[in-house]
Amino acid sequence: MTYRIAVLPGDGIGQEVTPEALRVLAAVGKGAGVGFEFEQALVGGAAIDAGGTPLPPATLDVCRAAHAILFGAVGGPRWDDAPHEQRPERGLLGLRKELDLYANLRPAKCFPMLVDASPLKRSVVEGTDIMVIRELTGGLYFGEPRGVERFADGGSRAINTMAYTSREIERVARVGFEVARKRGRRLASVDKANVLVVSQLWREVVTRVGREYPDVALEHVLVDNCAMALVRRPTQFDTIVTENTFGDILSDEAAILAGSMGMLPSASLGGTVGLFEPVHGTAPDIAGKGVANPIAAILSAAMLLRYALNMTEDADRVERAVVRVLESGHRTADIAGPGGPVVGTREMGDLIVRALEAQA
Ligand code: NAD
Repeated sequence: MTYRIAVLPGDGIGQEVTPEALRVLAAVGKGAGVGFEFEQALVGGAAIDAGGTPLPPATLDVCRAAHAILFGAVGGPRWDDAPHEQRPERGLLGLRKELDLYANLRPAKCFPMLVDASPLKRSVVEGTDIMVIRELTGGLYFGEPRGVERFADGGSRAINTMAYTSREIERVARVGFEVARKRGRRLASVDKANVLVVSQLWREVVTRVGREYPDVALEHVLVDNCAMALVRRPTQFDTIVTENTFGDILSDEAAILAGSMGMLPSASLGGTVGLFEPVHGTAPDIAGKGVANPIAAILSAAMLLRYALNMTEDADRVERAVVRVLESGHRTADIAGPGGPVVGTREMGDLIVRALEAQA
C-alpha cells in the first residue's frame, strides 16, 4: 500500500519542523512495509511570494488527491500589512473551507516528565489527558448577518450571528462520540444552554445522537463551568465537544496545561481528506535558528496515522518514541529544565527516529 501525503510546510518554523515529521513517517513506513509518497506544495506567505496568492489552485489539487495533509504553519511579520484576502492565514482558512474540515481535534496531554513546565500545580495537572473537539466551520465566526452599521449621529452598531443547523451539530457530535470511543468513553458536550437558544438546539441534538452511543457516558457542561473546571480539576475530562467560539477559547486554555506550544499537535477532520498540523504558529522569534521543537509536528504525524490511515499501532509507536526521548532527558530549548541537555530541531528529530527504529 502506498499513501499520498500532501506536505505544506508554509512559513517560518513550519519549514523546519515539517521535515522532521516526514522523517518519522518515512521510518514508520519502512517498519510497517507501507509506502509514503510526499508531495510538497506551497501555502501561506511562501505561496504569496511565489505567485501572489496564499492558496494556489495547484496546492488545492495536491491536497484533494492526497490521503492526508501534513501542514506546518503560515504567517509572519513580512506579510502583516498585506490586504485581507492576501494574508497567509487565508491559505489555512481556505483549505478548511474547501475541504469541509468541520471538526478540529486538539489533545492536551500532560507528559509526566514535563509536569513542572505547566503553569498549574503538579497535584492539579498530573494525569491530564484531554481531547478537545471544536466545531470549525459554523457558529459566530461565519454566521450571517454580520457587519457594522454607521449612524448619522456618529454612533454605530456591529453584529455577528451565532447560528447552527441540526445537521452541523449532528456531524460534529458524531466525531465527538467516535473519538471518545477510541479514548476513555466519556464525552462532555459544552454549551451555554441556560442563555443561548443555539445552545439549546446543540444540547437537544447531542443528546439525540448520544442514544446511538450507549457505551459513551455523555454529560452536558456549561461553558463557564468548563473554563473553571479545566484549571481546577482538568483530570475530570476525557473528550470535550463544543461549538466554534467556545472551542477556540477552551482549546487554548487546555493547551497551556500541557506546557509548551512546541508539544501540541492537532487534526482537522470532516470531508474526504484530513489536515494535521502543530497548534503553534511560525514563531518568527526563533525561525531560521534550528532550535524549534519538532515534537508538535511529529505528534501531528502520529495523529495522521491514527485518524487518517487507521494505523493505530504505528501512531502508538511514534508517541512512545517521543516519550522515550523525553524520558532520556533530551529537551529542546522551549521545554528545557535548568541545566538539562538542550538539543536543536534536527537532533530531536534524529533521536525520535532512532527511538522509533529501536522498537521495531
Ligand atoms: P507562535 O505559536 O508562532 O509563537 C508563540 C511563542 O511560542 C513564541 O515565543 C515561539 O517562539 C514559541 N513557539 C511556538 N512554537 C514553538 C516550537 N515548535 N518550538 C519552540 N518554541 C515555539 O505564535 P505567534 O507568535 O502568536 O504567531 C507568529 C506567527 O504565526 C503569526 O504570523 C501568526 O499569525 C502565525 N500563526 C499561524 C498559525 C498557523 O499557521 N496555524 C497558528 C498561530 C499563529
